[in-house]
Amino acid sequence: MGEKTQQTGGTVRTAVRVEGVVQGVGFRPFVYSLATSLGLGGLVGNDADGVFAEVEGDPAVVEEFLAALASDAPPLARIERVTTSAMRPAGTTAFAIAPSQPGTQRRTLVSADTATCADCLAELADPGDRRFGYPFINCTNCGPRFTIVRDVPYDRPRTTMAPFTMCELCAAEYHDPADRRFHAQPTCCPACGPTLSLLGPLGIAEPRQPVASGDPLAAAAALLREGKVLAVKGLGGYHLAVDAAGEAAAAELRERKHREDKPFALMVADVAAARRLCEVDEAAAGLLASSRRPIVLLPRLPESGLAEAVAPGNRQLGLMLPYTPLHHLLIAAVAGPMVLTSGNVSDEPIVYRDGEVAERLGGIADAVLTHDRAIEIRTDDSVVRAFRGREAVIRRSRGYVPEPLDLGTGFARPVLACGAELKSTFCLGRGDHAFVSHHIGDLENAETLRSFAEGIAHFRRLFDITPEVVAHDLHPEYLSTKYAAQLADGEVAGAADLAGVELVGVQHHHAHIASCLADNRASGPVIGVAFDGTGYGADGTIWGGEFLIADLAGFERAGHLAPVPMPGGAAAIRQPWRMAAAYLDAACADGQLDGLDVAGRNRRLWPGVLQMARRGVNSPLTSSAGRLFDAAAAILGVRDTINYEGQAAIELEQLADPAERGSYRAGITGPEPLVVAGRDLIRAVVEDLAAGGAPGVVAARFHNGVAGLIADCCLLLRERRGLNTVALSGGVFQNLLLLQATIARLERHGFEVMVHSRIPCNDGGISLGQAVVAAARGHG
Ligand SMILES: [Zn+2]
Ligand SMILES: [Zn+2]
Ligand SMILES: [Zn+2]
Repeated sequence: MGEKTQQTGGTVRTAVRVEGVVQGVGFRPFVYSLATSLGLGGLVGNDADGVFAEVEGDPAVVEEFLAALASDAPPLARIERVTTSAMRPAGTTAFAIAPSQPGTQRRTLVSADTATCADCLAELADPGDRRFGYPFINCTNCGPRFTIVRDVPYDRPRTTMAPFTMCELCAAEYHDPADRRFHAQPTCCPACGPTLSLLGPLGIAEPRQPVASGDPLAAAAALLREGKVLAVKGLGGYHLAVDAAGEAAAAELRERKHREDKPFALMVADVAAARRLCEVDEAAAGLLASSRRPIVLLPRLPESGLAEAVAPGNRQLGLMLPYTPLHHLLIAAVAGPMVLTSGNVSDEPIVYRDGEVAERLGGIADAVLTHDRAIEIRTDDSVVRAFRGREAVIRRSRGYVPEPLDLGTGFARPVLACGAELKSTFCLGRGDHAFVSHHIGDLENAETLRSFAEGIAHFRRLFDITPEVVAHDLHPEYLSTKYAAQLADGEVAGAADLAGVELVGVQHHHAHIASCLADNRASGPVIGVAFDGTGYGADGTIWGGEFLIADLAGFERAGHLAPVPMPGGAAAIRQPWRMAAAYLDAACADGQLDGLDVAGRNRRLWPGVLQMARRGVNSPLTSSAGRLFDAAAAILGVRDTINYEGQAAIELEQLADPAERGSYRAGITGPEPLVVAGRDLIRAVVEDLAAGGAPGVVAARFHNGVAGLIADCCLLLRERRGLNTVALSGGVFQNLLLLQATIARLERHGFEVMVHSRIPCNDGGISLGQAVVAAARGHG
């Protein structure tokens, strides 16, 4: 940068451009105070590309300014690039903030929602402050962003704060470059901002009535302490809250929400409170307290004092710390952990529009703690865990989105990738940026499909991207695949401009491995191990236990689990005992099956299902690793029927004794593609159980067996292909026990192992994988 600074009579003027997340994060006041403190003249402003500045003064001081620009930037800023050029000095000694410039293309980045900062918390707790106890306090360093933005450039009139006119005091702060709230778009106070209200009961009173006069927050906390179910409006949607110690309340919430077993997330006041419930190491504490405030999955302590119904039989808990001032006030008033789960019935998307609360949550919540600042876009809580001291994102949403991912590669042409079906996300890629969307949910109904389509339209508007290429899964029945085809046919309302767009089909497991490569800023080739529940194979069968030799552009199927029938098709996914029947039939002699508990429990349907599998009637073949886990889970008596995706495998992991080192061996036959006999593990499970093996020990040996077959396959492929790096992807690797056992074996053999960190290993990462594959094939 220095050589560009042109010296003229002891004074230089340098034009500076800063790109990245630099708007709405206090960047201009930071530049203003930095320049004025150094005695430099010039100006700073926002335009569609980010922040521009001109600084004039002594060359050494300008250098000092440029150094501090990067090193002392405000906490929420993410600087991607600083460029400078010399200008002719104008004799300016004062420093000014220039009015915003309208630009042609909106290349500037919108920041993610951010937890209340320490300065705002201090004011919130200060009886002398005019925002004392005000549930919507925020500043340039914290508060809502993505969830309130309607359009760019990011300015108050283009957010859901538009209806709130700033009072004189707030306006003075907003216009004062020395103030922490200088150009803080959502800034407000009790005199001019949103107001809190407590309404209910939802199902009965119509129109809704205020529950009580007086302080809505105190009344809401009182309802929670009485064991009532409360709906609470958050940043990206409505939550349902109950007192986490209240047995009856937690059970009631489960009943009303039709959620049988899936654990509820909890909000606790701080890291110390988290440590009373869970083991929290330093990495996990950092994640809990980060300004992104995700739900962090943590090992549960035995004596927690929580209601049993919070997370029945689960070794883990999902904890988060308060991230809005309202949460801080509520948790302080409740004085204990509270359940804070998505406001929805069973698998529907989280409720976020005020108008749908009565209808959709009326049967669940006794009252609703709400306010009059609209949520522009539905955004769920993010879910992460610490793995080997690093963050591993499992659901990427509020607090992370819409921050772009730096992949180390770029997009020559703008790409839209439509993702898969479960845990749906989409991805828009342009230039150096990949914008992976918030978690949309399972694309199985009209409501989620609408969120998906609206989300794509919103992201296109925010980032001004017109895709020239649309990538999609190969599964012809996925709604995301159909959506891609409709886009190209010009049949999507509001997106007629994409008619004729180039379509690129990307195989599901290739997308998994590509997403892992992109997550690690790598390009391959690698030995990719993609283990999941279901993905459409290149040959039209259902894949899911795949060994791919892959780079970003292409793949070869170098190995897979031996296919087995799924008796009843989708029914076999919901009823793991059917997979047990299919695997046992492949693994064992007839006599060995007699007396097996799983056959006994399902004796009425068992013979018919066996027949179905043998004859191949309504029994598509699958190489899915998820189904292998299902079979083992059913045989070990974990469960015969599931209530949510992956439940049998999750509970099998919980059952397994982590200290057990024994393992089973699966036969591998070649040539390529190598075929791995998953049934060998099933036979070993049956024999070990028959010999009196404890289910926890057998479950652990099964896990070790799967890790072993992965290592065995990778060793064979390394010998043949000379590749030493293994990328692990697919939802099955959410299983920590399996992941750790697999990495340990691979590393022992000298492999370099790539795992996910910034993007989920599950189908939430598929859209990114599709986007980078399309780009690598020269389509994007
Ligand atoms: Zn703040
Ligand atoms: Zn005000
Ligand atoms: Zn998958």
